[in-house]
Amino acid sequence: MTDAVLRAEAVLRAVCGDRVRTGFPMAPLTTLRVGGPAAIYLEAGSDADLAVAGRAAKETGLPVMVVGKGSNVLVSDAGFPGIVLRLGRGFRWAARDGDRLSAGGAMPLPALSGVALRHGLAGIEFGVAIPATVGGAVRMNAGAHGSEMAEVLERAEVFLLHEGQIRSVVAADAGFSYRASALPGSSVVVSATVVLGPGRTEEIRARMDEAREWRRRTQPLAEPNCGSVFKNPPGDHAARLIEESGAKGFSIGGASVSEKHANFVVTAPGARAADVVALIRAVQDRVEGLTGIRLEPEVHLVGEFDVVPG
Ligand SMILES: Cc1cc2nc3c(=O)[nH]c(=O)nc-3n(C[C@H](O)[C@H](O)[C@H](O)COP(=O)(O)OP(=O)(O)OC[C@H]3O[C@@H](n4cnc5c(N)ncnc54)[C@H](O)[C@@H]3O)c2cc1C
Repeated sequence: MTDAVLRAEAVLRAVCGDRVRTGFPMAPLTTLRVGGPAAIYLEAGSDADLAVAGRAAKETGLPVMVVGKGSNVLVSDAGFPGIVLRLGRGFRWAARDGDRLSAGGAMPLPALSGVALRHGLAGIEFGVAIPATVGGAVRMNAGAHGSEMAEVLERAEVFLLHEGQIRSVVAADAGFSYRASALPGSSVVVSATVVLGPGRTEEIRARMDEAREWRRRTQPLAEPNCGSVFKNPPGDHAARLIEESGAKGFSIGGASVSEKHANFVVTAPGARAADVVALIRAVQDRVEGLTGIRLEPEVHLVGEFDVVPG
């Protein structure tokens, strides 16, 4: 362990005790199921935990990050050399106020869609089968079926780790774009409020059923994956370009381009993050060679890689 890790661990342990873990495996925290350990891991139960993690990072210079459901991250085989935070049960809640639903950052997005259904609120059906937390969905501007978080979000409460403070960010200031936001890297979405509209329960349920059924039909849900690996280029679909270029079925080590959905990479037991990155590059090169379009990864890389998608 480096000196910085030891010092950060001491700062954290003084407040969080045995909940602080070192050398904590991250692969099980991600849907791709690959990657090495976090130097330090803490399941944060409160804003006070976030504050001390921010202080530990600031005092030691260690990087700090938050992981949600891990459904859009690729963790390096060497792991993450700093502090990894995950929001615990205290951040898993939802509350209704008229047409608004607020939820904690750890609330699963499908569960929030379920709350909306129970209250006859329409507008967040698209989230019913996206395996995100509310925090990760806001950070990524998650979306599907022509809708996205930016359209329904009113504001997010964001904990700024390096400042030790919460700030309320209205949607217009979150810098949303396609599958991205401009929230600072060291900020944690601790809660979010969406504005929905009244809807007929049967119609909301039908849209959700259709969304789930579409995924079962089109996505390799039985194998570890991280959803769409590449962003769709303007006016086109990454999956179409990958198929057309003949890269469907490409495989390197334990990582393969899914036969079911060409924009998904699936991993087999024993796969390494390096396999996934090498495959991403191979697909990028192949598609660019044939179409001139360089696909841009949607998946977030965590930790250090010898080779990165270019
Ligand atoms: C089967 C499958 C289907 C998918 N389908 C879709 C889809 O239809 N549409 C879509 O948009 N995405 C889809 N995804 C990708 C993924 O679910 C989304 O990107 C989602 O928003 C990631 O949320 P998460 O909580 O898992 O975040 P993570 O993957 O854990 O993290 C993603 C990024 O968000 C950051 N982050 C996580 N939590 C917080 C927080 N509380 N505060 C601040 N930053 C945070 C992380 O640091 C990281 O940079 C799919 C993934 C899978 C596996």
